[in-house]
Amino acid sequence: MDPSARPACRTCRICLGPVRDGFARCYQCDVASGQAGPLLADVVVPVEYAVKGGQLAADLRRYKSGRDGATEAAARLRTMLAVFIRDHGAWVWAAADMPAGPATAAVVPSGQGRPGPHPLTGIVRSCVRLPTTRLIAVPQVTGRGRGVSVGWLRAAGPVAGADALLVDDTWVSGGSAQSAAAALKLAGARRVALIVLGRHVDPADPRSAGLLRALNA
Ligand SMILES: [Zn+2]
Repeated sequence: MDPSARPACRTCRICLGPVRDGFARCYQCDVASGQAGPLLADVVVPVEYAVKGGQLAADLRRYKSGRDGATEAAARLRTMLAVFIRDHGAWVWAAADMPAGPATAAVVPSGQGRPGPHPLTGIVRSCVRLPTTRLIAVPQVTGRGRGVSVGWLRAAGPVAGADALLVDDTWVSGGSAQSAAAALKLAGARRVALIVLGRHVDPADPRSAGLLRALNA
Protein backbone atom coordinates (compact mmCIF):
# COMPACT_ATOMS: atom_id res chain seq x y z
CA MET A 1 0.00 0.00 0.00
CA ASP A 2 1.07 3.59 -0.44
CA PRO A 3 2.76 4.59 2.83
CA SER A 4 1.97 8.25 2.26
CA ALA A 5 -1.77 7.46 2.25
CA ARG A 6 -3.09 6.08 5.52
CA PRO A 7 -6.21 3.88 5.79
CA ALA A 8 -9.50 5.75 5.97
CA CYS A 9 -9.93 5.05 9.67
CA ARG A 10 -8.08 5.77 12.87
CA THR A 11 -4.93 3.65 13.25
CA CYS A 12 -1.89 3.64 15.49
CA ARG A 13 0.38 6.41 14.26
CA ILE A 14 3.41 4.16 14.67
CA CYS A 15 2.42 0.69 13.42
CA LEU A 16 -0.86 1.46 11.61
CA GLY A 17 -2.61 -1.18 13.70
CA PRO A 18 -6.05 -0.86 15.25
CA VAL A 19 -6.38 1.58 18.16
CA ARG A 20 -8.99 2.25 20.78
CA ASP A 21 -11.08 5.34 20.22
CA GLY A 22 -9.34 8.45 21.39
CA PHE A 23 -5.81 6.99 21.33
CA ALA A 24 -3.03 7.97 18.92
CA ARG A 25 -0.99 4.83 19.51
CA CYS A 26 -1.89 1.20 20.15
CA TYR A 27 -1.23 -0.26 23.57
CA GLN A 28 1.92 -2.13 22.44
CA CYS A 29 3.50 0.90 20.77
CA ASP A 30 2.71 2.94 23.84
CA VAL A 31 4.46 0.41 26.09
CA ALA A 32 7.43 0.16 23.67
CA SER A 33 7.80 3.92 23.71
CA GLY A 34 8.04 3.90 27.48
CA GLN A 35 10.50 0.99 27.45
CA ALA A 36 12.92 2.07 24.76
CA GLY A 37 11.97 5.55 23.46
CA PRO A 38 14.81 6.80 21.23
CA LEU A 39 16.12 3.27 20.61
CA LEU A 40 13.00 2.40 18.60
CA ALA A 41 12.77 2.52 14.82
CA ASP A 42 12.46 6.04 13.44
CA VAL A 43 9.71 4.94 11.11
CA VAL A 44 7.63 1.75 10.86
CA VAL A 45 6.18 1.06 7.42
CA PRO A 46 3.97 -1.95 6.73
CA VAL A 47 3.93 -3.06 3.09
CA GLU A 48 0.44 -4.54 3.52
CA TYR A 49 -2.00 -5.65 6.18
CA ALA A 50 -1.86 -9.41 6.79
CA VAL A 51 -5.40 -10.32 7.76
CA LYS A 52 -5.57 -13.62 9.65
CA GLY A 53 -6.90 -16.28 7.28
CA GLY A 54 -5.89 -14.32 4.16
CA GLN A 55 -3.34 -15.04 1.43
CA LEU A 56 -0.57 -12.81 2.77
CA ALA A 57 -0.87 -14.23 6.29
CA ALA A 58 -0.62 -17.73 4.78
CA ASP A 59 2.46 -16.81 2.72
CA LEU A 60 4.16 -15.26 5.74
CA ARG A 61 3.68 -18.49 7.64
CA ARG A 62 4.60 -20.78 4.76
CA TYR A 63 7.71 -19.18 3.26
CA LYS A 64 9.94 -20.21 6.13
CA SER A 65 8.25 -23.53 6.86
CA GLY A 66 10.27 -25.62 4.38
CA ARG A 67 6.99 -27.31 3.42
CA ASP A 68 5.20 -27.51 0.08
CA GLY A 69 4.61 -24.08 -1.37
CA ALA A 70 7.39 -22.40 0.66
CA THR A 71 9.36 -21.46 -2.47
CA GLU A 72 6.31 -19.99 -4.20
CA ALA A 73 5.34 -18.07 -1.06
CA ALA A 74 8.88 -16.67 -0.79
CA ALA A 75 8.77 -15.60 -4.45
CA ARG A 76 5.49 -13.70 -3.91
CA LEU A 77 6.94 -11.97 -0.83
CA ARG A 78 10.11 -11.07 -2.73
CA THR A 79 8.09 -9.46 -5.53
CA MET A 80 5.96 -7.59 -3.01
CA LEU A 81 9.01 -6.16 -1.21
CA ALA A 82 10.89 -5.34 -4.43
CA VAL A 83 7.93 -3.44 -5.88
CA PHE A 84 7.34 -1.62 -2.61
CA ILE A 85 10.96 -0.48 -2.32
CA ARG A 86 11.02 0.53 -5.99
CA ASP A 87 7.83 2.59 -5.66
CA HIS A 88 8.06 3.85 -2.09
CA GLY A 89 11.68 3.47 -0.94
CA ALA A 90 12.43 7.15 -1.40
CA TRP A 91 9.39 8.07 0.71
CA VAL A 92 10.50 5.68 3.48
CA TRP A 93 14.08 7.01 3.57
CA ALA A 94 12.77 10.57 3.73
CA ALA A 95 10.33 9.68 6.51
CA ALA A 96 13.23 8.18 8.48
CA ASP A 97 15.39 11.27 7.82
CA MET A 98 17.99 9.39 5.78
CA PRO A 99 19.14 11.88 3.13
CA ALA A 100 21.26 9.28 1.32
CA GLY A 101 19.07 6.27 2.06
CA PRO A 102 20.18 3.29 4.16
CA ALA A 103 23.80 2.10 4.14
CA THR A 104 23.10 -1.34 5.60
CA ALA A 105 20.21 -3.80 5.85
CA ALA A 106 19.25 -6.22 8.60
CA VAL A 107 16.41 -8.64 9.20
CA VAL A 108 14.67 -9.43 12.46
CA PRO A 109 15.65 -12.97 13.47
CA SER A 110 13.04 -15.51 14.55
CA GLY A 111 12.38 -15.65 18.25
CA GLN A 112 13.48 -19.28 18.53
CA GLY A 113 16.75 -18.82 16.66
CA ARG A 114 16.92 -21.21 13.74
CA PRO A 115 20.04 -22.85 12.32
CA GLY A 116 21.30 -21.39 9.04
CA PRO A 117 20.42 -18.10 7.40
CA HIS A 118 16.92 -16.69 7.81
CA PRO A 119 14.96 -16.98 4.52
CA LEU A 120 14.03 -13.31 4.86
CA THR A 121 17.71 -12.39 4.49
CA GLY A 122 17.75 -13.87 0.97
CA ILE A 123 14.60 -11.95 0.06
CA VAL A 124 16.05 -8.66 1.30
CA ARG A 125 19.41 -9.26 -0.42
CA SER A 126 17.62 -9.74 -3.73
CA CYS A 127 15.70 -6.46 -3.28
CA VAL A 128 18.41 -4.01 -2.16
CA ARG A 129 22.08 -3.66 -2.99
CA LEU A 130 23.27 -3.14 0.54
CA PRO A 131 25.65 -4.94 2.86
CA THR A 132 23.70 -6.85 5.50
CA THR A 133 24.25 -6.70 9.22
CA ARG A 134 23.40 -9.84 11.18
CA LEU A 135 21.47 -9.56 14.39
CA ILE A 136 22.36 -12.34 16.81
CA ALA A 137 20.39 -13.44 19.86
CA VAL A 138 22.41 -13.01 23.03
CA PRO A 139 22.45 -16.45 24.70
CA GLN A 140 22.31 -15.15 28.25
CA VAL A 141 19.08 -13.31 27.56
CA THR A 142 16.39 -15.95 27.74
CA GLY A 143 12.63 -15.46 27.85
CA ARG A 144 12.22 -12.16 26.13
CA GLY A 145 8.92 -11.55 27.82
CA ARG A 146 6.51 -9.04 26.41
CA GLY A 147 7.27 -5.84 24.62
CA VAL A 148 10.70 -4.58 23.68
CA SER A 149 13.65 -6.48 25.06
CA VAL A 150 16.73 -4.28 24.86
CA GLY A 151 19.77 -6.56 24.95
CA TRP A 152 18.07 -9.62 23.42
CA LEU A 153 19.95 -9.06 20.17
CA ARG A 154 23.28 -7.61 19.21
CA ALA A 155 24.47 -6.40 15.82
CA ALA A 156 27.32 -8.50 14.45
CA GLY A 157 28.60 -5.92 11.97
CA PRO A 158 29.86 -2.35 12.03
CA VAL A 159 26.86 -0.02 11.97
CA ALA A 160 28.23 2.97 13.90
CA GLY A 161 26.96 6.15 12.30
CA ALA A 162 25.14 4.22 9.56
CA ASP A 163 21.50 4.52 8.56
CA ALA A 164 19.90 1.08 8.54
CA LEU A 165 17.02 -0.60 6.78
CA LEU A 166 15.49 -3.22 9.04
CA VAL A 167 12.99 -5.72 7.60
CA ASP A 168 10.61 -8.00 9.46
CA ASP A 169 8.09 -10.40 8.00
CA THR A 170 5.16 -10.04 10.38
CA TRP A 171 4.28 -7.39 12.93
CA VAL A 172 1.98 -8.61 15.68
CA SER A 173 2.98 -6.61 18.77
CA GLY A 174 6.19 -5.20 17.31
CA GLY A 175 8.24 -6.46 20.26
CA SER A 176 10.80 -8.43 18.22
CA ALA A 177 11.12 -5.79 15.51
CA GLN A 178 11.58 -2.94 17.96
CA SER A 179 14.09 -5.02 19.96
CA ALA A 180 16.04 -5.41 16.71
CA ALA A 181 15.85 -1.68 16.06
CA ALA A 182 17.18 -1.10 19.58
CA ALA A 183 20.10 -3.48 18.91
CA LEU A 184 21.04 -1.48 15.80
CA LYS A 185 20.79 1.82 17.66
CA LEU A 186 22.84 0.50 20.58
CA ALA A 187 25.51 -0.54 18.06
CA GLY A 188 25.58 3.06 16.88
CA ALA A 189 23.16 3.12 13.95
CA ARG A 190 22.05 6.70 13.34
CA ARG A 191 18.55 6.08 11.98
CA VAL A 192 16.51 2.90 11.51
CA ALA A 193 13.73 2.49 8.94
CA LEU A 194 11.66 -0.59 9.66
CA ILE A 195 9.74 -2.16 6.78
CA VAL A 196 7.29 -4.90 7.75
CA LEU A 197 5.88 -7.20 5.07
CA GLY A 198 2.59 -7.84 6.84
CA ARG A 199 0.97 -5.93 9.67
CA HIS A 200 -1.11 -8.63 11.41
CA VAL A 201 -4.84 -7.97 11.74
CA ASP A 202 -7.07 -10.36 13.65
CA PRO A 203 -10.69 -10.11 12.49
CA ALA A 204 -11.79 -11.57 15.84
CA ASP A 205 -10.41 -8.52 17.66
CA PRO A 206 -13.24 -6.00 17.99
CA ARG A 207 -10.74 -3.14 17.62
CA SER A 208 -10.02 -4.38 14.07
CA ALA A 209 -13.58 -3.80 12.86
CA GLY A 210 -13.08 -0.23 11.62
CA LEU A 211 -9.81 -1.11 9.94
CA LEU A 212 -11.29 -4.13 8.16
CA ARG A 213 -14.21 -1.99 6.94
CA ALA A 214 -11.73 0.57 5.56
CA LEU A 215 -9.62 -2.15 3.91
CA ASN A 216 -12.67 -3.74 2.29
CA ALA A 217 -14.25 -0.47 1.19
ZN1 LIG B 1 1.05 0.51 17.21
